[in-house]
Amino acid sequence: MNITCKGCGAEYKLSYTRTIMRDKDRIHCECGHVIHSWNESKIWDAEPIRKQDSPLDGNG
Ligand SMILES: [Zn+2]
Repeated sequence: MNITCKGCGAEYKLSYTRTIMRDKDRIHCECGHVIHSWNESKIWDAEPIRKQDSPLDGNG
C-alpha cells in the first residue's frame, strides 16, 4: 500500500515481512516525520516513490 508523509507530502510504498517475533518499530520520513509505526508480528519497509515530472514543480 502507499502512504503519504503528513509532514512533507512525500509518497512511500509500504510493504511488510511477517515475522515470528513481535516487532515494535517505526519508519521516519527524510523530513523526520513518522510515516508508519507498528507493534505486531511484521516488519514494515518503506520505499520512496519517485514522482513523475510535474509541470507544477518548476524547482527541478
Ligand atoms: Zn516527510
